[in-house]
Amino acid sequence: MSLMPCRACGHKVDTSALACPGCGATDPAKKISRQERDLYFSIVYTLVWICVLGAFGWGVWKLGVPWLKQIFDRPPIVQPTLRIPARPAAPTEEIQDDDEAE
Ligand SMILES: [Zn+2]
Repeated sequence: MSLMPCRACGHKVDTSALACPGCGATDPAKKISRQERDLYFSIVYTLVWICVLGAFGWGVWKLGVPWLKQIFDRPPIVQPTLRIPARPAAPTEEIQDDDEAE
């Protein structure tokens, strides 16, 4: 239990006092008030979130966009099983000849 001058008006207040009895300032014995501390905290919190979201957005932009481009710019996949062999269609011609001969 010690007395400190109020940061707002200089009135001697107890360090554990929640408000100055002279001027009504909150946390009179502390360097900054609770409101100021909350304000600084919210500012820091917002800045941290901007950094996090900015880094995330940058990562999506730098990694995700080329990845999507790679997917959409990729030529259609030619499956080896559907590839027609470069061979003369001899067997079909033979069958047709047999049908026409009769
Ligand atoms: Zn005061």
